[in-house]
Amino acid sequence: MKKTPFVTLEQLKEIEKTYPTPYHIYDEKGIRENARRLRRAFGWNKGFKEYFAVKATPNPYIMQILREEGCGSDCSSYSELLLAESVGNVGSDIMFSSNATPPEDFRLAKKLGAIINLDDITHIDFLEKAAGIPETICCRYNPGGYFELGTDIMDNPGDAKYGMTHEQIIEAFKILLGKGVKHFGIHSFLASNTVTNDYYPELARRLFELAVELKEKTGASIEFINLSGGVGIAYRPEQEPNDIMVIGEGVRQQYEKILAPAGMDNVAIFTELGRFMLAPYGHLVTKAIHRKETYKHYIGVDACACNLMRPAMYGAYHHITVMGKDENGPKMTYDITGSLCENNDKFAIDRELPVIDIGDFLVIHDTGAHGFSMGYNYNGKLRSAELLLCEDGSVKLIRRAETPADYFATFDFEGATIKVKDNED
Ligand SMILES: *Cc1c(COP(=O)(O)O)cnc(C)c1O
Repeated sequence: MKKTPFVTLEQLKEIEKTYPTPYHIYDEKGIRENARRLRRAFGWNKGFKEYFAVKATPNPYIMQILREEGCGSDCSSYSELLLAESVGNVGSDIMFSSNATPPEDFRLAKKLGAIINLDDITHIDFLEKAAGIPETICCRYNPGGYFELGTDIMDNPGDAKYGMTHEQIIEAFKILLGKGVKHFGIHSFLASNTVTNDYYPELARRLFELAVELKEKTGASIEFINLSGGVGIAYRPEQEPNDIMVIGEGVRQQYEKILAPAGMDNVAIFTELGRFMLAPYGHLVTKAIHRKETYKHYIGVDACACNLMRPAMYGAYHHITVMGKDENGPKMTYDITGSLCENNDKFAIDRELPVIDIGDFLVIHDTGAHGFSMGYNYNGKLRSAELLLCEDGSVKLIRRAETPADYFATFDFEGATIKVKDNED
């Protein structure tokens, strides 16, 4: 599918008067429409709830929009719990799916009344000592081995640090029942960024079968099944995007086949989607500031891997639109680079793009999830601003850009602090 930015060149020029590049911008309308589609896709399930994976886009303005669309928060750390609380997500509006969890994180999750999702059987004792065992608990399952779907989707749960084995989860349920737990859920995350309509239905089949077995073997009351994240998006224009309506229907069929006959037709379906909820509705906007001709053609831009790590970290493809240039006009093959002293700081390698002039705006697509949030300060680079393109067409600053004073804020070295002040302009 052709990738079209949700902002026009005219809008970018207008925004530039107030906010210099680089920045991340999010599309409120797109976020809301997509969240509503997800709700419709699972409308057949009475208890359905999406817990937005906060790590994907940890900004309270975004979380607030999603809350208005009925979404809770999936958190995995102390600060993410605070973010959830800040938008009014407390109690069963928080799923706490953490691993290698510090005791203070469990304490805050318990205090907020979050649904705690235990990553390991030993976390039962750990949680009991840290905060006490709540009446509702979820356990994370890892079936081990390989997980395959058709030909190209494959992941390796057996090599993943998450979740309990089959034997452990049965044992964990028995121990938790003994400790007074009344309401149970199960969770599993088997493959990431799956661009297929088959992932959730296949995961659901496995979790539903496990739920029936757990009920039979332990008598536990299983009240929700959390399909977690992993529904992907088409980063490449030639990929066929997922159809969430088809995915919801696929899960419903497994539900009718496995849970309903076992008398478990009150089980709520939960999701913890991050990428699917936000990735397509964010752009990283940057400007071409250098052209360099050596053994290759380079365009140097004012963003770098600190603003978007995925290409450097995973070799991930992000589509790029050169704003205001005819896609059928003259082309060149470029490496699009940031300014880090790291040769992997490239948003695109050998990418054929319309001929780029200095000052052109480049829109890097699908950066709404795992974009800004994976940012870092290497080379003394500062985090960019985050903007929201509101439904009424106005633009709102939802996080200001960092300044050198922010970078220096965590050390108490007088000379350095004075230098920041001296050089402020
Ligand atoms: C990362 C993560 C998610 C979200 O994954 P996406 O691929 O962004 O959908 C959900 N749940 C857990 C436990 C995660 O670690």
